[in-house]
Amino acid sequence: MSLTPQTYWAEHAWIDGRVESDVVIESAPDGRIAAVRTSVEVPPAGSVGLRGLTLPGLANAHSHAFHRALRGTVQADHGAGAAPGRQGQATAGDGQRAPDSFWTWREVMYAVAQNLTPERYFDLARVVYAEMALAGITCVGEFHYVHHQPDGTPYGEPNAMGDALIAAAAEAGIRITLLDTCYLSSGFGAAPAARQLRFSDGDADAWAARASAIKADGEHARVGAAIHSVRAVPAGQLATVVRWADERHAPLHVHLSEQTAENEACLQAHGRTPTQLLADHGALGPRTTAVHATHLTEQDIRLLGGAAATVCMCPTTERDLADGIGPAVQLQDAGSPLSLGSDSHAVIDLLEEARAMELDERLRTGKRGHWTAAQLLRAATEDGHACLGWSDAGRIEPGYLADFTTIALDSIRTAGTPPRLGPETAVFAASNADVRHTVVAGRHVVREGHHQLVQHAPGAMAEAIAAVRTP
Ligand SMILES: [Zn+2]
Repeated sequence: MSLTPQTYWAEHAWIDGRVESDVVIESAPDGRIAAVRTSVEVPPAGSVGLRGLTLPGLANAHSHAFHRALRGTVQADHGAGAAPGRQGQATAGDGQRAPDSFWTWREVMYAVAQNLTPERYFDLARVVYAEMALAGITCVGEFHYVHHQPDGTPYGEPNAMGDALIAAAAEAGIRITLLDTCYLSSGFGAAPAARQLRFSDGDADAWAARASAIKADGEHARVGAAIHSVRAVPAGQLATVVRWADERHAPLHVHLSEQTAENEACLQAHGRTPTQLLADHGALGPRTTAVHATHLTEQDIRLLGGAAATVCMCPTTERDLADGIGPAVQLQDAGSPLSLGSDSHAVIDLLEEARAMELDERLRTGKRGHWTAAQLLRAATEDGHACLGWSDAGRIEPGYLADFTTIALDSIRTAGTPPRLGPETAVFAASNADVRHTVVAGRHVVREGHHQLVQHAPGAMAEAIAAVRTP
């Protein structure tokens, strides 16, 4: 890969935990940072100015791109789903709203998943990833499980869907880790339901064979593995997915204990918690990321922390789906790095995810100050990238990937605080609307709030969503 070297001049930049001013950042033809110099008061000739606070690019560690099609509408729709193992979910016969839950939301989500084709998914993901770039995100972890045609028949190109997502990220100018997801059953010992047929490869060996054929260049796209959940992969096949990731030194992600119903069903089927089940099958280690990890026992927390597994918190989704608040403080104290994801894309705003993790903890405990702004930014940058297999991103430092984003410090939301408190302003006051620039591999993808590669993004988003909401 050869890119045009570029010199940027950042008004302020967050480097190694400190706010520096008048910072020159040079990118090299390999897309990495060639040099960083601070206190350069006169911008070098030909440099591109970045007014505001420049941060390392944000890593969105957990995404299902197609869930973006549910935004807003799912707040009004009511599916007829019920929690696994529970019968007779109430329905609204008298004009009252039926009780809405994660499980009713999931029914609406499945209906959209049925309508995806590789072409429609490419169109939708391209604009969703453009929205991410506009929010300062330079790398996405796409937890991808819509592999096959609706009846489960593979496409002529078995990775047509995954290829579409990798191509979409390229068009939107951001990096992607395709977390190819093994999803085989609808519950403990249950075959996939009709709407889950397209997620399933049949067994873990067939999943591994297909996943092995995914083409990714390692520079723009990398590949990891995912276990959808302990509900979706039979215990006897977990080791196959773990081995696949081990052989490639690849990330291994898993949805874990988002709902108490999963814990109850796992205890019934296996006599142990989902975390314990994963541990017993070798699935917990430093390349593992547990997503949500909301309802855990003390022993679960010890297992995750002891394995140095990352925990990916998705607070805006967990809020939206009424999941609960996961024990992020205890997990971190036990040894788990933290990362952040926008998951269902109720909003795409990593700054909001970062502050939500802290603010949710304040509400629960009645205390403030669980994390500093710098610690929250680290989850959104360096630790987020690391859990996606990009330990060479997430810092503004020579040798690291030239991925960064600039937050305005002079908008109506952010004006008035001194630049040295830029990180606090970014995390606790700014939003995605304050993202002014995004640079990926030295390339200026978002300039003054405008995406340079995807034109008319809002209109394209509306069209792409209309297409996938139509059978
Ligand atoms: Zn998820």
